[in-house]
Amino acid sequence: MSLNTVDKPFRKTGDPVTLTSESPLHPRRKSRRIMVGPVPVGGGAPISVQSMTNTLTANVPATLQQIAELTAAGCDIVRVAVPSQDDADALPEIVRKSPIPVIADIHFQSKYVFQAIDAGCAAVRVNPGNIRKFDQVGPDICKAATDAGISLRIGVNAGSLDKDLYAKYGGPTPEALVASALKEAHMFEDVGFHDFKISVKHHDVITMVQTYRLLASKGDWPLHLGVTEAGPAWQGTIKSCLAFGALLAEGIGDTIRVSLSAPPVEEVKVGCKLLEYMGLRPRKFDIISCPSCGRAQVDVIQLATAVTEGLKDITAPIRVAVMGCIVNGPGEAREADLGVASGNGKGQIFIKGKVIKTVPEDQIVETLLDIANDIAANMEANGEVPAGATGPVVIPIQHPNRAA
Ligand code: SF4
Repeated sequence: MSLNTVDKPFRKTGDPVTLTSESPLHPRRKSRRIMVGPVPVGGGAPISVQSMTNTLTANVPATLQQIAELTAAGCDIVRVAVPSQDDADALPEIVRKSPIPVIADIHFQSKYVFQAIDAGCAAVRVNPGNIRKFDQVGPDICKAATDAGISLRIGVNAGSLDKDLYAKYGGPTPEALVASALKEAHMFEDVGFHDFKISVKHHDVITMVQTYRLLASKGDWPLHLGVTEAGPAWQGTIKSCLAFGALLAEGIGDTIRVSLSAPPVEEVKVGCKLLEYMGLRPRKFDIISCPSCGRAQVDVIQLATAVTEGLKDITAPIRVAVMGCIVNGPGEAREADLGVASGNGKGQIFIKGKVIKTVPEDQIVETLLDIANDIAANMEANGEVPAGATGPVVIPIQHPNRAA
């Protein structure tokens, strides 16, 4: 794909995002649609955010508590690891009580795949390369998934690349990872199973982008984007934003998981914000704050942090500006709904670039929060808060073999 093919009008900063399934930067790649429970993936569906619990799956209360936190943060789909019989046994209750679709993540033991399907999981992540006797059980897995109306995720990570492909390509190169993914895809398609998405994860941003680009050119499978082992929150966020940003800007990607060595809820926050800033999810609260400089007459860092913390749960698409001086104050931030320009121990509070009042410095945060909450309440009352801003985008469906 080339940026030369863009044929859309440019979007003005601040324009509301309504068609969240469309990218303002580039037409989305045409992929086929699968369902993960009620959440559509691919085929132009809004890009979903996934995460994975890090509790012991067999500890049902702890796992459900974490799923509730992930859901509140905007997670659409959750994955749980199933490395033992106790974990597999916990799946029915987790699936029954989870507010979002549950994917079982299974390596090595095909019997857990069948248990996960029986438990009502919305999808199963399998790695055919390390499922024992996959040649024999693969068709049965496909049949069980088809009968239950669920989808699968397949694919490869740089660390789990097949030895032969590793040797042939000299390492986990984009060609090697895509060859592995194609081999797996054909194993499923050869038995008539098409309801799967693919991931081809690598920890290196450039290799990851090249790999997904290559895979995207080979077929219409929905793609699950991930930078594997991306690192702690700071590095992992940068890597994920670079890699996902590059691919999403080209229209590639149908569902994302930000992998961080951090609490899973942080992964969801990064994923949701990333999509918001790419114009692929309705925007919530956003802050514009200056970096401050020698002209600053207030502690901008402290002020911006306090305002962000005070408004972090607002779902209305409100933009608040915090400027350190009046030189570049209301004018520079006139695209904000509300803001402050500080100076001389006071703060000029402005709405849409017009100063409405001046308050002492110690009342700036309180005043901004009060007005922001009023604006947000008005927006909600007037129906100006997009539905997708308050939770996952779901399409209710009825699986053929399962009650609603
Ligand atoms: S708004 Fe004022 S304090 Fe902030 S960076 Fe610009 S000139 Fe400096």
